[in-house]
Amino acid sequence: ATAQIGVTGLAVMGRNLARNLARHGHRVAVHNRSPERTRSLVAEHGDEGTFVPSESLADFVASLERPRAVIVMVKAGRPTDDVIDELIPLLEPDDIVIDCGNAHFADTRRREEALREHGLHFVGTGVSGGEEGALLGPSIMPGGSVEAYRKLGPIFESIAAVVDGSPCCAHIGPDGAGHFVKMVHNGIEYADMQLIAEAYDLLRERLGATPAEIGKIFAGWNEGDLESFLIEITADVLGHVDAGTGRAFVDIVQDQAEQKGTGRWTVQSALDLGVPITGIAEATFARSLSGHADQRAAATRAYADAGGETPTDDVDRDAFVEDVRKALYASKIVAYAQGFDQIRAGSQEYGWDIDPAALATIWRGGCIIRARFLNRIREAYDADAQLPTLLVAPYFVRGVAESVASWRRVVSYAAQAGVPAPAFGSSLSYYDGLRRDRLPAALIQGLRDHFGAHTYQRVDTEGSFHTRWAGDRAESPA
Ligand code: NDP
Repeated sequence: ATAQIGVTGLAVMGRNLARNLARHGHRVAVHNRSPERTRSLVAEHGDEGTFVPSESLADFVASLERPRAVIVMVKAGRPTDDVIDELIPLLEPDDIVIDCGNAHFADTRRREEALREHGLHFVGTGVSGGEEGALLGPSIMPGGSVEAYRKLGPIFESIAAVVDGSPCCAHIGPDGAGHFVKMVHNGIEYADMQLIAEAYDLLRERLGATPAEIGKIFAGWNEGDLESFLIEITADVLGHVDAGTGRAFVDIVQDQAEQKGTGRWTVQSALDLGVPITGIAEATFARSLSGHADQRAAATRAYADAGGETPTDDVDRDAFVEDVRKALYASKIVAYAQGFDQIRAGSQEYGWDIDPAALATIWRGGCIIRARFLNRIREAYDADAQLPTLLVAPYFVRGVAESVASWRRVVSYAAQAGVPAPAFGSSLSYYDGLRRDRLPAALIQGLRDHFGAHTYQRVDTEGSFHTRWAGDRAESPA
């Protein structure tokens, strides 16, 4: 036994993670169901470090020093369970199985419990940054036990992205905590991308600007508060020209956004936890809407000459660009505030004790949502770990206050001009809902009591009450 850590599953992610480990001086056992991938990894990259290849899972396990650490990087779902089932009889107590795939946190909780009964540690680990991140330094979000992290932490921290000298890896919490925060990370990524897409669409519609011109606007925004990986690559994609047709790349791509499911999981979990993550939900539904091609074509036809629309006012180009930038910034604050709310709710529900400041710290590099902005989030939670919502952190209060007039103008324009901006609009409504002193929820309580005797509470006294709506309208304690 000579290897310090093993990777089974050597498709793009596993291969790159194994190379990253080897490049950092770890002796890495490597295995893949079909041995060709193992052979090609060693043939093409064997000189990058020490790989210990095996063609059978048994040999792979035998090549690892104890306690063993086995990274499973196979297709999420059933294949992960299959590989774990094969591993269990080969492992011994205190060995560690690490699932770096995109597992649902509920599956991770189930697997952790099952492996614990065998005396094994199971570490569901979120890995963000795509294939390039896996090779050059991802953001790593391990769950599982503190004991397991004691062994894995130094290894993971050595291969993670580094920002300001600190690695983008931290123990998130027990069992499914790592995969849960990775899921919410992906949900925030959905919201971020939807907001960027809405900003682009509004600029294009209102200014009649070309994608390349809008790409330059985004490149400029990347110099300020919005500086982030996604804004940077937006400029790149918008500036790209299709070689075959000479047209803007965005104009030759089908306008139907795909999804692999983590946005949907985030929204499903938020519904279970009762956390309004409206930005992420709108982003997920906007992708669904884009995919309903037949409905879209039918509606486009049905309303083409139906009339009823009114023209919009003339535009001051520079002022509008600045309004959209501020609307994007404020909406982004809402999306992150909602995502961090969900993480707190999940942490409470499942007993994870997740540190939001540590999370903001490890999302600053390596991952898809890496952004300058996350420094501000970390500072906000460092100053007050019990913040009711990021929206009340002084830095963000100032940011929203400076943006809100622009935000309203952009959402008004979108509504008037008929440009869909669901994430901009719902984020603004969320902000307005959160800060309103009295919400019409009081009326909803009245309606519920009227039709279903569901009772209500009064503002002026304790207890629950019911009004006999069908009778004498007298109120009685419930
Ligand atoms: P894939 O999700 O395409 O999975 C392919 C790998 O799974 C191959 O090694 C394949 O082996 C193996 N596999 C599939 N079924 C089985 C099985 N029943 N038993 C054993 N092995 C099996 O690979 P990726 O590298 O794209 O992703 C790996 C994991 O990382 C996934 O969970 C993914 O969601 C996650 N992830 C991916 C990211 C990305 O950017 N691609 C980013 C972050 C996470 P074989 O070669 O024999 O077919």
